[in-house]
Formats: sequence, C-alpha cells, structure tokens
Amino acid sequence: MTLVIRADLLIPGRGEPVENGVMVAEGATITYAGPAASAPSTGDADIEEVAVLMPGLWDCHAHLFGSTQWNLETAVWIPPAQSGARAATDLQSYIEGGVTSVREVGGYGVELAPVVAEGSLAGPTIYGAGAVLSTTGGHGDVHSVPQDVYEGLAEHGRILGRLADGPSECMKAVREQLRRGARVIKICASGGVMSEVDHPIHQQFSDEELAAIVSEAARAERVVAAHCHGKPGIMAALRAGVKTIEHGTYLDEEAAELMKEKDAVLVATRFIVEELMGLESKIPPYAWKKISRMADQHAQALKIAVATGVKVAMGTDIFTSGPVEGYRYRQASREIRHLCEAGMSPLEAIEAATAMGPETLGPQGPQAGILEDGFASDVIALDRSPIDDVSVWGDPERVTGVWKGGRRVK
Ligand SMILES: [Zn+2]
Repeated sequence: MTLVIRADLLIPGRGEPVENGVMVAEGATITYAGPAASAPSTGDADIEEVAVLMPGLWDCHAHLFGSTQWNLETAVWIPPAQSGARAATDLQSYIEGGVTSVREVGGYGVELAPVVAEGSLAGPTIYGAGAVLSTTGGHGDVHSVPQDVYEGLAEHGRILGRLADGPSECMKAVREQLRRGARVIKICASGGVMSEVDHPIHQQFSDEELAAIVSEAARAERVVAAHCHGKPGIMAALRAGVKTIEHGTYLDEEAAELMKEKDAVLVATRFIVEELMGLESKIPPYAWKKISRMADQHAQALKIAVATGVKVAMGTDIFTSGPVEGYRYRQASREIRHLCEAGMSPLEAIEAATAMGPETLGPQGPQAGILEDGFASDVIALDRSPIDDVSVWGDPERVTGVWKGGRRVK
C-alpha cells in the first residue's frame, strides 16, 4: 500500500528540514522523502496533508511492568497478567504521544514485543532487555524481600531484576535474557535511587564481571546498557565496552571524553529526575533522600555531555502505570524539552529522539528514525513547528497523526 504525506515542514531527524516536503512509503518502508518539487509520481494514491512531518519518536529507556506505585517493593507482587494488561494501555499512550519505538530496559518488553508485532496490541515496536542484571544487594535487587524469595521470583521471570555474582553467573544471566528474546542487555553498574540500601556512587559489578557480560552479549550481537550514577561505575562500564550509559549523574569532562573515545551514547533520562523531584510524598523516604541530593548534579552532567559533544539519545525511565500514573507515557516527548534546557538546539534534540534511537541497540538497531529512502515508515505529524516552539513536546494534543509501518494508528 502506498502512503503519501505532504508536509509544510518535513524534519528528517538527521539533516536540515525541508519546506514543502513529501514522504512516500510502500508498506513499512519509505521510498522517498524530500522536496515536493522532486517527488516521484504516485498516481492516484490519496495524499495526506499535515503541517509538520517527522520520524516517530524513540524512548530509549522505558519500563513496562504495570506498577501503579512509585515503589519497587510492591512491584514484586504484581501478578504478570495485571502487569501485561496495564502495559497494553501504556503502549497505546506512547502512540498517542508520538512514540513509535521503545527500548525497554527492564520489565515485560520481551514478552510484549511479539504481541505488538503480530498486531494484537497497538503500540510502539519494542526492543526489550528482559530482566535487569544486578549484583546481589545491587540496584536491581529489592532489599526488603527475603533473598530466597526474590531469587525464586527472578528464576521464573516474574520480576525486574536477575541477581548474578561472578563472571560465570553473569554469562548465564545474559544467556537467560537472550533466551527470553532480549535485543539489548541491561545491567546496573552503580547503585540507584529506587533501591533501598545501596549507594548511587558505588560501582556495582567488578571489572571482570562487566567484561564477561559485554563479551557474552557481543557474541550474540547485542550491546549492553549500563545504569550508572557514580563516576566509578561510568568509567568501569565504558572501559568494559558498554554501548550506553543510562542516567550518567556524575559524568564529568573526563568521563565525557571517554564516552566519545568509546563512541558510547548517553541516555540521560532527565524526565524521571524532574518527575521524582515533585513526588516527595509518593516515593519511599530512602529514594527521596537520594534523588534530592543528586538532581542538580544530574542536570549538570547532561549539560557537560551536550557541551562536549557526547552522543545523546532520548530516554525517560517512566515506570508507573494505571489510570492515575500511566498518563506519563503520553508525555514521554517532554524529555526533548529537557534536552534543549541542557543546551541542545531544537533540531539536535529531535535527532536525539529519532535518528539516535537505533544506535542505542548497536547491531540490533533497525533502519529507522530518519525520513529517508529505505528507512521505516514510522512517522508522526505535529500541528506546529517544534523548531520554533519546543513547548509542543510533552503535549499529546500537538501530535495530530501517527503512522507505524505505513499504517495510520492515530
Ligand atoms: Zn530505568
């Protein structure tokens, strides 16, 4: 089926915008995108008219596990069917907000991906990690749950985390996620905020364990996404060869240089930091203590990354669902505004949210995120230019159309 969309402004995702542009797609693939004047003839195909056309957005740090509370201790006990049912609505919310691809770094993404792919569920294309690999007592552990209970749940793929200690267990944990269908491997290379007893600055996983994980993933052409706040974890993860640094709170000039040298990508997730700072009464006290100390530092790190030219991709770290909390998935593009606040131009921030997405998946990355011949026909329309007015981001009302694989889904 031929899809033809004419736009007052066509933003390709990478490269300069085109006024009076046209995109032509045959099924799931773009066959032309550029000036209307040089577009190929499309015969009697219907032509859609939009104000602004651009690639569908990528949320490169997402979680789909249907927790209605800002607390991972309660998430452990949610029946998987409830998680899945809530995630179905969250995926629809993503589409409403213009997100057509999701890199799911801990949750039920690997199980939901085929359901979206077969057409049973409306939603973005999902590239899941399966469970988050964590040291015992690390960020991917839930410290208030008895260890044997937690390990039992993990064994059956029921929770976010998979504890692994020592290189051989780390390799096995990677293989388990591959068995579940992981397209990327997610690890905790430092402590975190939503976990109780660990310290965000401490490195988690030894250099040997990190090396084992990266090489095992690489054998299967997967890259590793490393949750890191503290600098020791950032540096160790980069030296081991991870592809992306998630959060990167204590990234400084030295770490930024190493990121560039290693061609790594920062997924800063400013969205969740801003969000948590407004939730003192909803998050556990230990999490509030950690986030309130780190929030300014995190903003600073993102500014350093932007100023030094580190590659950045958009990610939100949204992880709460349900009728009250799940609306956040619709607002994922608000991260683009945060990237602009950190010093990116509106066009650079759009590139981080589109063209950079596939790069966070290494060899698993699809031809997508750019309006160009041969790329995926996942595109969105806006009612005004996001270059002149960045306030469009975060507002699903401004997204007037979404097409996935050449088919209109909004
Ligand atoms: Zn996360």
